[in-house]
Amino acid sequence: MSVDRILKGLFRFQKRVYPKHRDLFQKLALGQRPQALFITCADSRIDPCMLTQTKPGELFICRIVGNIVPPYPDAIGGVSATIEYAVGVLGVPDVIVCGHTDCGVLKGVMNPEPLEPLTSVSAWLSYAQPARKAAASQEPTHSGPEFLLALTERNVIEQLGNLRTHPLVAARLAQGDLQLHGWVYDLGEGLVTAYDNDQQAFVPLERPEPTLRAGRRS
Ligand SMILES: [Zn+2]
Repeated sequence: MSVDRILKGLFRFQKRVYPKHRDLFQKLALGQRPQALFITCADSRIDPCMLTQTKPGELFICRIVGNIVPPYPDAIGGVSATIEYAVGVLGVPDVIVCGHTDCGVLKGVMNPEPLEPLTSVSAWLSYAQPARKAAASQEPTHSGPEFLLALTERNVIEQLGNLRTHPLVAARLAQGDLQLHGWVYDLGEGLVTAYDNDQQAFVPLERPEPTLRAGRRS
């Protein structure tokens, strides 16, 4: 795909899509109140808004290879600033860390040699090493699709743990007004599993009961 196709899409948006949603965009031009911070991989196959059927203004999105959240105060920069802004300024009620199947970055964690010349990627992937070790202790085989899935799930759990080390996240959790969620998105099937603390496992997300939905913040 060339940039021409991207430009065609932009012009189509301006001519056909924007006019249909003019009120929403003009309201959003005055401010935002997103409902969640959504931290996911930069992988081009993930579209958080399509996946969650959310509109502009509803998700504050942090895209980062491997959906990695360095523990505070390591690697202060874009990820930590995005978390601070979402949690401390915008006051999002929920944070979702969303991993995904067939993650090239996590394949690199399993097989690091080809990525060694890429010093930034290699350094970043060190934050997924605790997940690799934890997955290796659970899975008898240390390669193949089963191990990659175990690593993907464990990586989400580890990054949720790292998220809790960020001071504003810890403060909001202590106040009881912030919820953390760990998801894994199956790209080919469109399915999402979520980490269940009681079961200590990723389980398919179920449609919320109407009463629960009515009780949620709108
Ligand atoms: Zn990925």
